[in-house]
Amino acid sequence: MDRLPLFLDLHKRRIAVVGGGSLAARRIEALARAGAEVWLFATAWSDEFEALRGQYHLGDLGEHNAFFGFPLVYFAFQDGEEPEQPSNLALIARARTAGALVNVADHPGMSDFITPSVLDRSPLVVAISTGGDAPLLGRMLKARLETLIPAGYGRLAALAGAGRAALGDKLANHQARLRFWERIFDGPIAEMVLAGDDAAAHALLDREIADCRPDGSAADDQPVGEVYLVGAGPGDPDLLTFRAFRLMQKADVVLYDRLVDPTIMDRVRRDAERIYVGKRRADHALPQEEIGDLMVKLALEGKRVLRLKGGDPFIFGRGGEEIEKLAEKRVPFQVCPGVTAAAGCSSYAGIPLTHRDYAQSCVFVTGHGRDGPIDLDWSTLLRPRQTVAVYMGLAHLDFLMKEFLRHGADSALPVAVVENGTRANQIVVTGNVGDIAAKAVAAGLRGPTIIIVGEVVALREKLNWYVPKS
Ligand code: SAH
Repeated sequence: MDRLPLFLDLHKRRIAVVGGGSLAARRIEALARAGAEVWLFATAWSDEFEALRGQYHLGDLGEHNAFFGFPLVYFAFQDGEEPEQPSNLALIARARTAGALVNVADHPGMSDFITPSVLDRSPLVVAISTGGDAPLLGRMLKARLETLIPAGYGRLAALAGAGRAALGDKLANHQARLRFWERIFDGPIAEMVLAGDDAAAHALLDREIADCRPDGSAADDQPVGEVYLVGAGPGDPDLLTFRAFRLMQKADVVLYDRLVDPTIMDRVRRDAERIYVGKRRADHALPQEEIGDLMVKLALEGKRVLRLKGGDPFIFGRGGEEIEKLAEKRVPFQVCPGVTAAAGCSSYAGIPLTHRDYAQSCVFVTGHGRDGPIDLDWSTLLRPRQTVAVYMGLAHLDFLMKEFLRHGADSALPVAVVENGTRANQIVVTGNVGDIAAKAVAAGLRGPTIIIVGEVVALREKLNWYVPKS
């Protein structure tokens, strides 16, 4: 390791920046954010500095002792202005003579210190350096870490900071403290923070601190697991959210149904137990209520239960019904949204659900009621400049289109049926209210399908971009 990483406290320290271009402006921003007293040395500067007004003082390079009292000096020469020019070399030498550590942007070889790529989840900060050899690689790695480290980790670190103070010297030794914090970072308290409920997390942490044994273990050995109700999106695993992916790695047991694509199940923690709870229009393998009971039972055994649902759990997913039981039994749970089928299918079919010229509103409806086709409020559906996305409508497509016509829809109104949207085997059939039912039958559609009705469907001709792989 050629360079030693350090995290400097710059509050109220005088830091110098030399240069008047974009690079210098970015430096000033970052330094001001870190609380430094920034001094700019430049003979001319770009418009960007307008927005930074008040964040820096102006120094004078003409002054003999210009860099005196600055522990760090950043040189950000502009394009075409080589640091190797004698006048610039002289400036750099002056800074060093004044006792400063020097950074020359894009010239690690000329720098006493270099600036890392920073992932900021304050108070958690990750700095990445490639020693100046490949800054781009550092930035790419940073982007990877962005996806791995949840946004809430900063707040988790802050919670631990508060907890550390409250814990004082209650725990006997290092081992006990390790056991305690491992339990916290790996359990429901951490999940509460990541889900945004800091108040509940702090309250529960206070209780853990008050109740824990001297060896750091929990006072009540009765373990309580937790439940994650997670939307897995319409099929393409790339559409999983970061949080969904993280919870999929944490789960001890997964409850899934037919709508969850196998390529998504492949991404669940390998050794997690899998329980199929079925679900097809009429033949539920397990009734909703039993799914709820099962989740409560598993959680009370101390397990982390992942309930994976296609699309978004709260859109025609009955996710709400499944977790009511959890709330009653006080099992901790969280809900993670997913890309709902209408959004995924429309994007992958090149059909914008709204468009300034064609549709100012969009409604999601289900085409299937408790025991057959649903009686919808047709007049509100058939409003002009409105797109209608119908879930679970394929079996009743003919009926739906006839009702549309009966309530005054133009038979030429465009309709698309998207089967297996976002997946490798996506099929899109387009037509209009008058002919789509016959076309869908001719195409032999039978997988999960979304029906999109509205003028926007015509845009597919121009905007279709997705090429299914099979
Ligand atoms: N909660 C889910 C919807 C569950 S209802 C969501 O937010 O997407 C099940 C219906 O969703 C299916 O009958 C079908 O209409 C639709 N659907 C789900 N995945 C789909 C896909 N990949 N392609 C087309 N339709 C899909």
